[in-house]
Formats: sequence, structure tokens, C-alpha cells
Amino acid sequence: MANAPIPMIAGNWKMNLFHNDGHALANDIAEKMLGRVGPSVDVAICPPLTLTGSICAFLSATPLRVGAQDCSPLQTGAHTGDISAEMIANLGCACCIVGHSERRRDHGETNQVVHAKAESVQRTRMTAIICIGETEAERNAGKTLEVVTKQLQESVPEGSGSANAVIAYEPVWAIGTGRTPTNAEIAEVHQHIRDLLFEMFDYDGYAIRILYGGSVNEKNANEILRVPHVNGALVGGASLKADTFWQIIEAVPKPSEVSAPVRVKA
Ligand code: PEP
Repeated sequence: MANAPIPMIAGNWKMNLFHNDGHALANDIAEKMLGRVGPSVDVAICPPLTLTGSICAFLSATPLRVGAQDCSPLQTGAHTGDISAEMIANLGCACCIVGHSERRRDHGETNQVVHAKAESVQRTRMTAIICIGETEAERNAGKTLEVVTKQLQESVPEGSGSANAVIAYEPVWAIGTGRTPTNAEIAEVHQHIRDLLFEMFDYDGYAIRILYGGSVNEKNANEILRVPHVNGALVGGASLKADTFWQIIEAVPKPSEVSAPVRVKA
């Protein structure tokens, strides 16, 4: 039987912050974590790559983890401008986001590219945070579960498990818009993803974390983080201020407040 996953809160800074502000923000969050008492939670920040090396270095003795926002699917060679997962791991990163909808939109990344990137992250022993989620048109057409199923099945490598993969369900229309699905809509998709993970990875599928992402803030985190099978959040805008990010971390429920019944395989 799988253990209940330890929740994860990951901050995606996107293409924001220069050296001084980025270092100050990382430092503020790390300080708050060192003094924290409460339910256990894994916290990661994903700064732009310009800051990743220096932030990894000064956070190395703290519980705050550092991740990257993307990587090349390739390992080495003549690929100007690209950065491999090995290079990112070498900086000291613990995780790397792949398949964010902004990468899928801006760089035409397909599920197959995302799959290759996730595999390259996992080869380095980092955790791949694999993003999936429907557009507004797909939701309005009643295709959410169909879209999410295809993205999950095609993007998540066979060798995935709770030790090297986290799924982030991010409805594209909720990212950066201030709009979120209802709790019932989030619950429906997270239950569906959980069922698929169970089919794909047996009981370890229950230990793979499923994060919700899309306009999570200090006001709605409390409710969203209590939806069954929501094991944390991927946070964009609200991760750029230590206070709001911290309030989201503090909203993580105690294990006794979480209801996510485990099914038994027939
Ligand atoms: C994101 O970029 O993954 C995200 C969820 O952004 P925001 O929280 O700003 O909607």
C-alpha cells in the first residue's frame, strides 16, 4: 500500500526577477522555512536560469529546493542556446518543470517532446514536474478528461514513479488569469488523473503527487489544497512575493485533514 504523498508547493518565477530581488526572495522563503513548525511539506522555487546556479549555492544547506523551468531533451552537443538536464542537475537542482503550457504554446512542444524532456530529467535523478491541462475551448467542448488523458499517457515516461515524477494539472485558462475551476471541477480531474496513474503505475500511482496550478493565491489556497487528490500546488504570480507564497505554504493541510481514499485493484 502506498504512503500518502508529502504535499509539495512549487513556485514558478517564469521570466521574472533580476539578481538582487531574486536572491532576496529566495533568502526570505528559506528563512521562513528554517523557523517553520507544522505539517511537513516539500517547497521548491524555480527561478529563471540566470539565477539558478547562485541560488542553488546559497540554499544548499537549507530545506528549500531549487528547480528549473525547462530543459533540453538532449544530453550534449551542437545545440546553441539549449541547456541539458545534466547541466541543471549539476547546478544542484532537485527538480525541473517540463511541458508547461507556456512552453507548449510558445515553442510548439508536443507530448512527445515533453516525454523526452521528462525522461532526460529523470535520467539525472531529478524529479520531473510534468504539466498537463486543457484550454478553455477544450473545457467548453466537454473534452477536459479526454485531453488530460492523452497528455498524461503520452507525456509521462514509463519509468516514472513517486520518486521521480510529479504531475501538475494546470488548466491553461486559469494560468495568470485570476480564474480557477470550481473545487468540484478540480476534484473531478484530480480523481481522473489518480485513476490513470493507478492504471499506469499500480499502487505507486497513489504516491505520485498531483499538484493543482492556475491562479492559486493566499486566499484560495486553503480550499484548493483540501480537494481530494490535490497534493500541493504549482504557483506562478503568487510565488513572486515571500508573504503570499508563505501563506500558501502555511495553508497546506495536516494529513488528518486530507481525504483521498485508495482503491483496491480488482
Ligand atoms: C504557472 O505558471 O504554472 C501558474 C500556475 O501561474 P499562476 O499561478 O500565475 O496562474
